[in-house]
Amino acid sequence: MSSVVSYLLLGGNLGDRVAYLQQAQQVLAATAGAIVAASAYYETAAWGVEDQPAFLNQVLAVRTALPAAELLAACLATEQQAGRERRLRWGARTLDVDILFYGQEIINTPTLTVPHPALPARRFALVPLAELAPGLVHPQLHQTVAELLAHCPDPLEVTRVKS
Ligand code: ADP
Ligand code: MG
Repeated sequence: MSSVVSYLLLGGNLGDRVAYLQQAQQVLAATAGAIVAASAYYETAAWGVEDQPAFLNQVLAVRTALPAAELLAACLATEQQAGRERRLRWGARTLDVDILFYGQEIINTPTLTVPHPALPARRFALVPLAELAPGLVHPQLHQTVAELLAHCPDPLEVTRVKS
């Protein structure tokens, strides 16, 4: 059976953030595929809506046999298991799981855009991704993750957290 390596961005800013990230990794390992790499945790001030707690983010590399739409479903189910409630956009949440890359595939459906369109603009995604895969090439922009990070305009500081 064929499989691809997908990079997932996990993040949350409510409750026990580390516990939610650990639980998410377990759920994804059981539903999406083997976790082949995990970044450190990184803390960033909230983006978009600033009057809320700081986020803790992590990138996981998962080797998955799931088609992309099913991987997205597994990500959303993982959020549900963390008790996520969707209220306002960019609002506080226990867990967000986004697909950054799905192999080198370019996907544009009403419910899934891959590579994640916000990736080049978000330091909190690029920093943990660069820890795992600095040489990974963006299939549309033809730049490596390290290059995207070097050119990222996001002013928010991303701090590695001891874990
Ligand atoms: P955000 O991640 O922007 O804060 P949500 O987590 O509420 O927003 O996601 C809303 C929807 O975004 C998901 O239900 C999903 O259908 C869609 N979506 C599109 N592309 C992606 C992607 N690459 N990863 C995760 N969700 C995506
Ligand atoms: Mg999301």
